[in-house]
Amino acid sequence: MISLEKLTTYAKQTGFIYQGSELYGGLANTWDYGPLGSLLKNNIKKAWLKKFHDENRYNVLLDSSILMNSQVWVASGHVGGFSDPLTECKFCNTRHRADKLIEEHTNFTVNPSSWTNDELHKYLMDNQVGCPNCGKVGWTEIRAFNLMFKTSQGVTESAGNTVYLRPETAQGIFINFKNIQRTTRRKVPFGVCQVGKSFRNEITPGNFIFRTREFEQMELEFFCKPGTEIEWFNYWRNYCINWLKDLGLKQENLQLHDHDPKELSHYSNATTDILFNFPWGFDELWGIASRTNFDLNAHQTQSKESLEYLDPETNERYLPYVVEPSVGVERLLMAFLTQAYEEETLADGQIREVLKIHPALAPYQVAILPLIKKRHEEKSLELLEIVSKFTQTTYDETQNIGKRYRRQDQIGTPLCITVDDETLEQNTVTVRFRDTMLQEKVAVADLQAFIQKHVSF
Ligand code: ATP
Repeated sequence: MISLEKLTTYAKQTGFIYQGSELYGGLANTWDYGPLGSLLKNNIKKAWLKKFHDENRYNVLLDSSILMNSQVWVASGHVGGFSDPLTECKFCNTRHRADKLIEEHTNFTVNPSSWTNDELHKYLMDNQVGCPNCGKVGWTEIRAFNLMFKTSQGVTESAGNTVYLRPETAQGIFINFKNIQRTTRRKVPFGVCQVGKSFRNEITPGNFIFRTREFEQMELEFFCKPGTEIEWFNYWRNYCINWLKDLGLKQENLQLHDHDPKELSHYSNATTDILFNFPWGFDELWGIASRTNFDLNAHQTQSKESLEYLDPETNERYLPYVVEPSVGVERLLMAFLTQAYEEETLADGQIREVLKIHPALAPYQVAILPLIKKRHEEKSLELLEIVSKFTQTTYDETQNIGKRYRRQDQIGTPLCITVDDETLEQNTVTVRFRDTMLQEKVAVADLQAFIQKHVSF
């Protein structure tokens, strides 16, 4: 398994991920996605939308705004309670999340998520939990630190025009529940998918792109009849796991953490976290929660507008219950890179760096390589134009063919197409496979079907 340090260096050197604002000395914990990283991110989002929207008959799509009326966040409980327990080391003045200190100290055998601030502080002191920075034990009283970024809208700054950067995309879905239900004439059960940026002023961001203050979420809010939510919760839980496995994450790198009923958030009656084996061990990748009617009820109360659904079959009125699978794009990207990166020792003793990522996620599915630039460039560019119409394709004419194959292996391109004299004479190309390094002759006329067979998802 690749180390965190190696992963960061690899991602930077290949053009997947750069440090944010590097030119000006950086801005801590911000990252820019380079040419390969942006393609990979897009492919992850495409694959999620394909599975959760295009191929699922229950779900529709939404793109709501990041800035919303601040009443939304009052109703959802974020203004009052979206906070983490902040404590400061009395010796080196670094700030930490008390719950995370305890989780790490106990290797996740203790779950302090529902403890009071006093309970957290007592545990830190009684168990001599040391500061991760200086190692000493001495913690200030814990206070709730609200994670929402606040700004103001318009030309004057006053309490009346405070707006927040959304800390999750979900609330945009809840406040549009009635609009969507009415305009699509959907019957419950149905779901709403959304992909978009979220912002949280995290106390301890870190572990590369695992926890950042700006990130992208892919969320589904699935509305169902009260009493059926556990059935749907199981349906979506399996759906998410199967999707991860279809995209190549191995069973041994995935774990399910079903929350103990005593640990559940006040609004939830079932929660499972899908954990992935990141370079530092298993950690949360995807949260799936059955959220009852907590959010719709909160918005109904705050807005004084009925959000009830009238069941056309039974004539019953009710607030639907909600199942929410919520995952971060960057965390998924990190999981895919972590698992896919391999260093293989070849027969001649050389090390081959290869990214064995699912072909549908690979930044480029195909690389077109003229064997000899002078002789094969024209035909190669002709092919590039054709192939890039139906799949993501790159072109490389620099250095010898062996080096070019290695470069494509390193960035995960599953198929390299070499244009040589036989292409000019017989209209065939040599296709070389990333994982096996085997080669095959393919007629140009059959190329589209051949590529699609090997890269589609
Ligand atoms: P934690 O307790 O670790 O702060 P959470 O359980 O509150 O996180 P959720 O609100 O359930 O996280 O968020 C849903 C998903 O969004 C997470 O499973 C993760 O994939 C992603 N996510 C949440 N916070 C961040 C972040 N700061 N950076 C990157 N991804 C995040």
